[in-house]
Order: sequence, then structure tokens, then C-alpha cells
Amino acid sequence: MPISIQFTQSYVGGSWKDSRSGKTYEVVDPSTSKCIARVSDCDAQDATQAVDAAHQALKSWQSKTSVERHGLLIKWFQLVQQSADMLAEIMTLESGKPLSESYAEVNYAASYIEWFAEEAKRVYGDVIPAVSPDKKMLVQRQGVGVCAAITPWNFPLAMITRKAAPALAAGCTMVLKPAEATPLSALALAYLAGKASIPAGVFNVVTASHGVDVGKVFSQDARIKKLSFTGSTAVGKLLLKQCADTVKRVSMELGGNAPFIVFNDADIEQAVAGAIASKYRNTGQTCVCANRFYVQSGIYDRFVKALSDAVKSMKVGHGLDEGVVQGPLINQASFNKVAGLVQDAKQKGAEVVVGGEPHSLGGLFYQPTILGNISSDMDIVHQEIFGPVAAISVFEDEADVIEKANNTPYGLAAYFYSKDIARVWRVSEALEYGMVGINEGVISTAMAPFGGVKESGMGREGSQYGMDEYLELKYLCMGGLN
Ligand code: NAP
Repeated sequence: MPISIQFTQSYVGGSWKDSRSGKTYEVVDPSTSKCIARVSDCDAQDATQAVDAAHQALKSWQSKTSVERHGLLIKWFQLVQQSADMLAEIMTLESGKPLSESYAEVNYAASYIEWFAEEAKRVYGDVIPAVSPDKKMLVQRQGVGVCAAITPWNFPLAMITRKAAPALAAGCTMVLKPAEATPLSALALAYLAGKASIPAGVFNVVTASHGVDVGKVFSQDARIKKLSFTGSTAVGKLLLKQCADTVKRVSMELGGNAPFIVFNDADIEQAVAGAIASKYRNTGQTCVCANRFYVQSGIYDRFVKALSDAVKSMKVGHGLDEGVVQGPLINQASFNKVAGLVQDAKQKGAEVVVGGEPHSLGGLFYQPTILGNISSDMDIVHQEIFGPVAAISVFEDEADVIEKANNTPYGLAAYFYSKDIARVWRVSEALEYGMVGINEGVISTAMAPFGGVKESGMGREGSQYGMDEYLELKYLCMGGLN
């Protein structure tokens, strides 16, 4: 077991705990398919114990001043930054992402803790002009209570901190279930929360190989007032239904099908750099990854050539190896999905410009790929690829490409490149997406609202708006003040 992996039990009420059944499950390095650790395999009873702990801790955490919560969160932020080597190594081992990307994620994850530590001090209320002289009318914003979070494997730290930090800043306590594939980053984060003196029970992590049972507890226990989920649209829909019986508040950060449009008047160099960042980061496994490229006919050949040159030079391998920028896919199901989508596109007439096959390294490695001549009858246009495959179509007309871009149930991120200012406004306003990158392929930061519309979800994470997800408005009306 690598030296950095020390935390393998669940973290509940400030203590490390085996599952009640004593069961554990394997965490696997997707680059080698070898077991790197065994962690507690929790069930519904373990999850309920974690809710007990979060519920017990709530009153005292709520009663701390915002300045006290700010101080503890800042300590946590500093410890995360100081532990970058440990966290980045763990993340690369369990998720396969290149080490440089893991370091970037540690910073990105920490930035949410810092941002919301500051926001804790700005949970303002309002005074409303009274309707009669004997009244005072006020609005207070109060933490919702115990919160639950369920997170995916593709950003094993940041998807947690952008939920936990605003929740804790708002005076809420939290129970978390990380993805089966990436529990180790979450447990290391819990260790650092304890080290930062965040009180027992305020942040709890239960690890499980079958998220279903834990998910039922998190969505059905009436003591939990809010569920925040990041993951696939299919699981999001299921959790929404499960949350209905207790009328829980929910935030849903779900799947995407991002269009990436390059107009004839774009700066090609900028567009290629944006395409590489947006498409191939995390080996194409991000929810905001460009999924469908639409390139206008006048620039198509030059764009495809420049993108191909960049993609051909990518080094594929184990994320801990020097110079690697593309890792493996996360598991066999993911690998099969990517290979199947490429196969379907090829059969329906796609041109293989680069790659298009499993990588010679074997295992879960797939070649960084570019497919041209993509048409709308191919599955790759309609499904989230979640792999290093750019699927490119040619277009002629602005109105037509906007219609194509919007023709999906998803609405998370969209990107386009143009230097025409009037077009920039027209297209930005017409795109039915929660986030639009304009001449920019990397849009996410703790300071901006992250989230989607349509079947990509509801609610926003990060930014000044991210706190609202964990706050209730309370109206106070004081009468008889004559
Ligand atoms: P997933 O299969 O939906 O899993 C996400 C989380 O839900 C995991 O912790 C998983 O646990 C858990 N889960 C699965 N089935 C469950 C159930 N029936 N009840 C309760 N929990 C359950 O998604 P994924 O494959 O890990 O992640 C990729 C997806 O996440 C993509 O669609 C991507 O677009 C989306 N995503 C969205 C955002 C965003 O901000 N919008 C960000 C990142 C990723 P197990 O691991 O044990 O299955």
C-alpha cells in the first residue's frame, strides 16, 4: 500500500469506524487494475449512525458564530493546501488522473473551502419597509440543518468541498458518501477536517460499494433536510423521486452534452487550446467536457489539422509517470462505452482522424481520438462520451448550429469561439445552458456559479449564490410596537 494511503475506515462522529458488518471492499488503481487499499463497506445501518452523529452535532455547530466557523474552515483550507502531495498522490492512484491534474484539483478543491469560509461572514438578512407603524419586518437566513452529499469519482476532492464548505459555512452538518471508486480522497479530507478541529459529527464520511442503500437513507431520513448530488442524470432522477416523501431540498449537478462551436471568424490557436482543455482534461471524463464539436466550413480543415497535431503529441500512461497527460478510463464499463460509441460512429461513416482504437498499453487505456464527418444519427452525438474522443461535424449557418447545439435534454456547459461581438451576444443568449465559455475552454472557478438547466440539474455551486443552497429564508414579523 502506498505510504499516503492511511485512512480506510469511515469517519463518523469524529472517529474512524469499521462497517458494522466488518465488510470491506477493494479500491483499484485503474492504471494497473491492482488493489491499492481496502475500505469499510457500509450499509444502511452505518449510514443511519452517521446521520445520528451529524444530527447530534448540529445544535452546537449552529450556535457557533460565523467568525468561529470561518476560522475553522480557514484552518481546513490551509491543511488541504499543505497536504497537496499526499492528496494528489491518492487522487492519481484511485482515479487515474495525471499527477499535474491532481495537484490542480487539490488547489481547486481548497479554493472552495477558502471562498465559503469568507462567505460565512456575509450571510446577511434584510429589513423590509413595514406595512404599518407598529410593525417591524425582517428576513433572516438560517442554515437548513443536516445535509447529505453523494459525489462522483471524476473529481474526488472538489465535488466534495464545493458541497461541504458552503454547508459548514452556513451552520449545517454533513454526511457524505463518495463514489465507490474514489473513497480515499474523501477520507483524507475527513482526516484533515479533524486535524483542523472541526468538531466531531460536523463532517462525516461513509464509504460503500453499493451506494443504493446509503442513498436510500440519505434521501429518506427525515432528519436530513437537504440532499446535494453530483453524478449522472439517471441516478439524479432516482434520488429526486426518493427525496419526494420527505420533501427534501435538493441540488442536482448532473450530466452534460456540451457543444463546442468554432465559427469561421474564430482565432484558431485559441480554439484549439480551448478544445484541448475542455475535451481532454481528465481523459475526457468531466461533466463539462466538450462532447460535440461543430466547426464552420471555412475553418474546418485548419482547425482539424491543428487539433490533430496537438492530440498526436499527448503522452498516455500511469498518472504518476513523468509527462503523462492522459490516463486510463475509470473502469471497464466506461471503457466499453467509449469503444462502443466510436465503433457505432465508424460504422455510420465517421472518419478516423486520430486514434479510434484501444491503446497499446492495454487495460483501461484508450487512444486520444478525433473523429470527423460526424452526423446526427450517430449515438456519440446524443450520449455523454466520458472519454478522450472529439467528435467533429461541419456546419454552414449560425441559426442552424444553435438549433443543433440546443437539441439535447442536457443544458450544463456550452462553448463557442468567435471574434464578432454581435455574434458573441446573439449566440450566448440563444444557447440553453447554465454556463457558456466564450473564447474560453476552462470556465470553472469557486467564484462563479456552476450548474446546469434542463436535465443537467438544478441549483448552483460556488460563488455568492452557492450559499443559498444551504440556507432557508425566515420572515420575522414583529407587531404591537406602539
Ligand atoms: P453516478 O453513477 O451517477 O454516480 C455518482 C454517485 O452516485 C456515486 O457516489 C455513486 O455511487 C452514487 N450512486 C449510484 N447509484 C446510486 C443510487 N441508486 N443511490 C444513491 N447513490 C447512487 O455517476 P458517475 O459515473 O460516478 O459520474 C459521472 C457522472 O457524473 C457523469 O454523468 C457526469 O456528467 C456527472 N457529473 C456531473 C457534474 C456536475 O457538476 N454537473 C460534475 C461531475 C460529474 P457508486 O460509486 O457506489 O456507484
